[in-house]
Amino acid sequence: MARDQGTSEFSDLRPKEKCGIIGCAGTSPITSDLYYGLRILQHRGQESAGLAVYEDGLKSKRGMGLVHEVFTKEDLVDLRGNSGIGHVRYSTTGSSVLDNAQPIVAKTSYGEIALAHNGDIANANEIREELSKKGWAFMTTSDSEVIVRLLANEIVNTGDVKRALREFTNRLVGAYSLALMINDSVYAIRDPLAIRPLCIGEGNDRMMIASESVVFDTLPGYRFIRDLKPGEIVELRSDGFESTRLPHPNHTAHCMFEWVYFARPDSVLDERLVYDARVKIGEQLAHEYPVPADIVVPVPESGRAQAQGYAHVSGLPVVEGLIKNRYIERTFIMPEQADRETGVMLKLNAIRSAVKNKRVVLVDDSIVRGTTIRKIVGILRLAGAREVHVRIGCLPIRFPCYLGIDMKTRDQFIANEKTVPEIADFIEADSLGYLSLRGLISALKHSRDDICLGCLTGEYPVPIPGEKMRKERPLEMFSDSATKPSARKKASSSR
Ligand code: AMP
Repeated sequence: MARDQGTSEFSDLRPKEKCGIIGCAGTSPITSDLYYGLRILQHRGQESAGLAVYEDGLKSKRGMGLVHEVFTKEDLVDLRGNSGIGHVRYSTTGSSVLDNAQPIVAKTSYGEIALAHNGDIANANEIREELSKKGWAFMTTSDSEVIVRLLANEIVNTGDVKRALREFTNRLVGAYSLALMINDSVYAIRDPLAIRPLCIGEGNDRMMIASESVVFDTLPGYRFIRDLKPGEIVELRSDGFESTRLPHPNHTAHCMFEWVYFARPDSVLDERLVYDARVKIGEQLAHEYPVPADIVVPVPESGRAQAQGYAHVSGLPVVEGLIKNRYIERTFIMPEQADRETGVMLKLNAIRSAVKNKRVVLVDDSIVRGTTIRKIVGILRLAGAREVHVRIGCLPIRFPCYLGIDMKTRDQFIANEKTVPEIADFIEADSLGYLSLRGLISALKHSRDDICLGCLTGEYPVPIPGEKMRKERPLEMFSDSATKPSARKKASSSR
């Protein structure tokens, strides 16, 4: 595979499985719980949705679109079953095809297997080649199909599901939170570094696993039990679960971006409420980058909690200076830059009376290309803001994610082309402050050794060909003067 400008051979057009998963086993039909659970996890993927359930055999449906668009009432009646799994998928551009939707189902001589995967397998191509040589045919470009074929191969070889589940994971390098159905049994697996979230809860006569704890808060009758441990395999029963552990290192590599942006603020991930982490990020930003200003304006929805935190510490009021059109699709995945720019304009508008003549601290979660924040600064200026000081609740993102977040190539990141003062110029901000690594780590309340910071540091917790493996380095190395706000000042009248 060809490499481009320092990009590893894995940053190709394979879909990145940045998704939500769910699984349930009970003594009465669980289909509507899976359906509503998927709707609760909709923020984790809007491209496709799918369910696979068991009742006298495996039945499944997958489709492109939001959960309520994919499933009709009749589908939910047809998909009746006492055990099942589900998936919502969000992938990169170019691979939005139904073939890659999940759950992926495979028929074997042992029985039927269905898989829902959140994460990304770094050595998927290698495994795919190996299995192809053994005569397995692949229908999709997805890593998840590689997982299901590998598992099917292992089950057929050993004839022992529990042993196969332990052994096939030996081959997987990367991030994987999995919901699996093998005939009528539901299993869940979390990779040994616990990179993507996965937790377990219980309802009346049923057990459930889900990507985020918010599912158990919101679904009537459910109760959150705990996060799956690193390398844990559980088999769900109607009255409990059986658990085993894969070998695992003495540290984890939870993805920091789940707290920074991806997960719902009302979820608790590995014992840290996402909302609290974001508020703390905002407080840190206020300590690191104070500025004389009149109001704090969040970028909805991704900067809301951080703006609260900034306001607590600075004493400034939070003002809803920007209004979001909820019915415009995500601009991040639009393939053309021009479409992304129009998309931001359609999505957000300023409240003129709230921002006119004000010195605004504008708070958002992260900058990738810089398209979004640049447009938003422009919108505020057009509405009459006198100054716009941008505060970002994450370090500059410079490196691709190979472990399940859709950020693929180095040339996508503005922070690789420009210094922080140059970015401030480009986005036409009066000042720009990115959170320091020390600030981020303290907000997440996990040790640095337990967090994956690959997209910030270029060092990954698993071997990725062409990339560096993580070494422990002092936090100071990532919180230097490059993250100081630009001193530059612009008169608002000039635009
Ligand atoms: P941009 O800088 O224009 O590329 O967009 C950055 C904004 O998109 C951030 O403020 C986030 O709200 C959102 N974002 C960041 N990373 C992702 C991602 N991997 N998928 C979808 N949205 C993202």
